[in-house]
Order: sequence, then C-alpha cells, then structure tokens
Amino acid sequence: MTSILPPGVGQQAFDAALQAFADVVGDDGLLKSASALKEYSDPYAFAADDVFTPSAVLLPTSVDQVSAILGIANQYSVPLWAVSQGRNLGYGGGAPRVRGSVVVSLRRMNRVLEVNEECAYAVVEPGVSFIDLYEHLRAGGHKLVVSVPDLGWGSVVGNALEYGRGYTPLGDHAANHCGMEVVLPDGKLFRTGMGGLSRGNSWHVYRHAFGPSLDGLFMQSNFGIVTRMGVWLMPTPEWYLSGSVSVKREADLAPLIDIVRKLLLDRVIENYPVLANPLTVAACSSTRDRWYQGEGPVPESVIEDICREMGIGRWNMRFALYGSEAMVDAQFAAVTAALSRIPDVRIDGRRYKGDTPPDEIPPMDRSQIGIPSLDILAAVKWRGEAGGHMGFSPVSPLVGQEVRRQCELLRPIMNQHGFDYMGGILVSPRCTLHILEFIYDAADEGQVREARQGCKALLKAAAAAGYGEYRSHLEHMDDVARMYDFNDGATMRLNNLIKDALDPNGILSPGKQGIWPRAMRPRQCTREAAS
Ligand code: ADP
Repeated sequence: MTSILPPGVGQQAFDAALQAFADVVGDDGLLKSASALKEYSDPYAFAADDVFTPSAVLLPTSVDQVSAILGIANQYSVPLWAVSQGRNLGYGGGAPRVRGSVVVSLRRMNRVLEVNEECAYAVVEPGVSFIDLYEHLRAGGHKLVVSVPDLGWGSVVGNALEYGRGYTPLGDHAANHCGMEVVLPDGKLFRTGMGGLSRGNSWHVYRHAFGPSLDGLFMQSNFGIVTRMGVWLMPTPEWYLSGSVSVKREADLAPLIDIVRKLLLDRVIENYPVLANPLTVAACSSTRDRWYQGEGPVPESVIEDICREMGIGRWNMRFALYGSEAMVDAQFAAVTAALSRIPDVRIDGRRYKGDTPPDEIPPMDRSQIGIPSLDILAAVKWRGEAGGHMGFSPVSPLVGQEVRRQCELLRPIMNQHGFDYMGGILVSPRCTLHILEFIYDAADEGQVREARQGCKALLKAAAAAGYGEYRSHLEHMDDVARMYDFNDGATMRLNNLIKDALDPNGILSPGKQGIWPRAMRPRQCTREAAS
C-alpha cells in the first residue's frame, strides 16, 4: 500500500503530527502498518479500492489522551475519524469517510466503570463490547440482562450512537442510554443531562435535566467523541419465552404486521421482534449453491423448496415474553389467539427460566435474553467465502399495507441488479426498520460495484416514495443526507451551523452522515471528492 496523507497536509507536517500523537499515546498506540490500515478500511471493498482508507490509527487509553489528540489534530489540521470497536462492517467498519484521516480507535478504553444493580444500569467506556459487558455481568453475579444486537463484538457505545438495535424490551439502544461524557472537537470535556452537576448522583437515571437535551447532538454525528455512557439494563426475568411465528404466503405479511402492532401497543409483547424472509433464514445455516447454482436471483420455485425443506414460512418472526410463569403463559395465550386469525400460521414458544445457563439455550433463542454471539456472520458467506454485505435500511410506519408496499417497491430493484432479496424487518410498536442486505462475494469487483449501484437505485426509489434511511454505509452518506430535504435542506443547514460552531477547523470525522466542515463543503457529495 502506498503511503497515504490526509488531504491538504504535507509529509513534513504529517510526520510532525504523528510524532506529537505518539508522544501522547505511546509508540504502541500509533499504528501505521499496512495490516493495521487494512483493519480500519472498508472491509468489504474490493482489493484495489482504497477510497475509505486511513493514514494512521491511534489507540488512546484515557480521556486526557483523547483530548490531547484533538488538540494536535487542530494544530496540524489533520482530520480524525472516531470509532469505538469499528466493527459495524456492513456500513464501512472502522473506515473513515475521508481517505487519509487518522482513525481514533477507542478499543483500548474498555472498562466497565460501574454496574448499578438497584437501578439496573451500567456505565461503560467506548471500547466495551457487548460480549465484554455480558461477561462482566456474569462474572459479577449480577441479575441483569444487557440488550445485544446480532453481532456481539460491536461496542455498546458505538451501537447506541448509531441507533443500533437489540431484541429485549430495551432493544432501542439509542433510547436506553442515559448520560454521556463527550470530548468536544476543541478538546474540552462535556457531560450531558444530570452529568452537568459536578456533584450529582442521578446522571445515569434521569435523562432530561434542565434545559435542552443535548445527547442527540452526539449520535450519528461528528460533533464530539463520546468517552463514556450509561446504559440501562433489564433485571433478569423469572421466566423468558422465545416465540416464533411463520406465515405461509407473502400476502400474510400485512395482517401479521397489523396484529403485531396491536400486540405491541397493548404491551402484550414488550420486546423488539424481528421478521426474516426465507433466503435470510437459509443464509444463516447454508450457502446459496446448496439451493441454486443458476444466474440471477434465486427463483420463486426454489424459494418454495427452501420453505418446504426448512419448515419455514414466507415470513418468519421471532418475539419474546418475560415475567412470572403465569404472566408469560397468559401473554403467550393472548399472542396465539391474536395471530391465529391468519390462515395456516405456525406459532411456537420455548420457555426458559430467566437465569438458564447460556449453553442450555439453543443459539436461535439467545439474543432475546441478552446472550451475545457472532453466529450471524455465517450469513455473509451466502455467495462465497470472501462474503461481504452492504445494508440499505429505510423506515416505515408499522402498518401492514405500508410495509408490504415498501417490500413490493424495493425487492424487484434488488433482483434487477442480480441480488437476492435478503430482508430483515426490525419491528417497534409504531415503525419498522427494513434491513435489505446486498450480500456479495467481496473478492469479485463486479459484484461489489453492482451492490453499490443497486443500493443507489434503492435510495432513489425510496426517496421518491418518501422513505428515509436511518443509517448508511460511508459510500452513501451524502445521498442519504440529501433525502432529508424539507424546507430546502433545513436539517443540513442547522447541522452545518452546529458543525462550524463546535469544530471550526473541521477536524472531527468530516463527511460523517453527510456533515462536512465549511472548507470541504463545496466539494461534498461525490465519492472521491474528499479524498
Ligand atoms: P461498533 O463498536 O458497533 O463496531 P463503531 O465503532 O464502528 O461501532 O461505530 C459506528 C460509528 O459510530 C463510527 O463509524 C463513528 O462514526 C461513530 N462512533 C463510534 N464510536 C464513537 C464515539 N465514541 N464517539 C463518537 N462517534 C462514535
């Protein structure tokens, strides 16, 4: 790999900046090797594509070091890119939006600072992964459950900041954090909410405090580096029931959604259910050539074969119930009665004591009780060993006809680009996050390019139909930001004002979520523009 410089920074200035960084983080906290830079590049780009590649990686171990790094970056005009674990691979992993940025990886700030059993929360540094927190809770004998996403290696902080999701009743991770500590782009320390009191005791139990709530400013943004966060936990329930529902026909999706909405709004189901289509289910335990070796997307007839052989439906939902034995039984009876209105529906429930050891719970029932894993990584190998994926994730109201309409609009576009429709629908009481995964062989440049084109085509169609995306790969951040066009781009105008006020030198994560510093703004919105 040829040596990469941050844009607008000469070799001499960059060398001086690196020396200053090394003086702060130590030689072992500054990585420049090709393998390190690769680890913090887009993991699913093809080999020759180095647009999202850093010039160096820093591994601070303390808040003071983070603050000093920001000071040096301001002095030398070096763009930084902050990540916690940097493992949200389908959206670009630890890679920066601007080629040559210096990645600040917070992996070594990985202490669980507090577990509060009474009020059911933990306080973590950004490098703490879900697996770390889970193991910490177990080792301490705490009767607390952490909501985990599909992949347990990601950080609790990074996932919440990106509006990530898990599957317990606290599965909306952004909504269930409480209290952040942030280093602002000028290196100064700030605490949100009740953390504004220097001698308070309610930072991680009450969110709003006095005056504007500022937490949201630091989520999916480039306005600060979050160095600690409170995260709410669920007391271990007496009983846990993992339920599965499958419906036979595509047309059953709309009634299923409408019934589930009522069950969620009535709080019969309190967790965050998820739906998957047959190819998504099949990809978790098999590869594509096991079912189909032809060209183009897997045909309908083969999808029918998959459903029959695997004993699954056209849509398959997982949900969970928690509480006393009597409560769980009563809720399951109510769920069964409501869903039985769908012809040929299949409903199963598997009940466990809340503190059942993880190895006595089958893998498919683990995440809803907060047991993290990496199982779902297998699905990425659907089209080859060097599997890659890129997610497209629009939002919709939790209304049957709306969800169906979104599927009918987007599925054919994926197919036209030669991709199988791999759909996961994350369900909340009032909305869905529809995750459409382009799964490809990352060793095949043609497939990677086609996935990017397919994603762009989905964006265009979704924007025309009024669907906004909630998260995006680096590649499409500008496009998604432009979808939010109300009042001639009022959202971005305000973001730009805040960016200029907090980060006048534009050193923190330029381009994140389409928010650019003033000096780069005229060049924004093309892939290579900021390289
Ligand atoms: P994960 O830990 O789940 O792998 P990442 O570390 O990749 O997640 O974080 C996802 C994105 O969130 C990053 O690309 C970055 O833009 C932002 N982010 C992550 N951690 C922080 C942080 N501590 N402060 C500010 N932004 C962050």
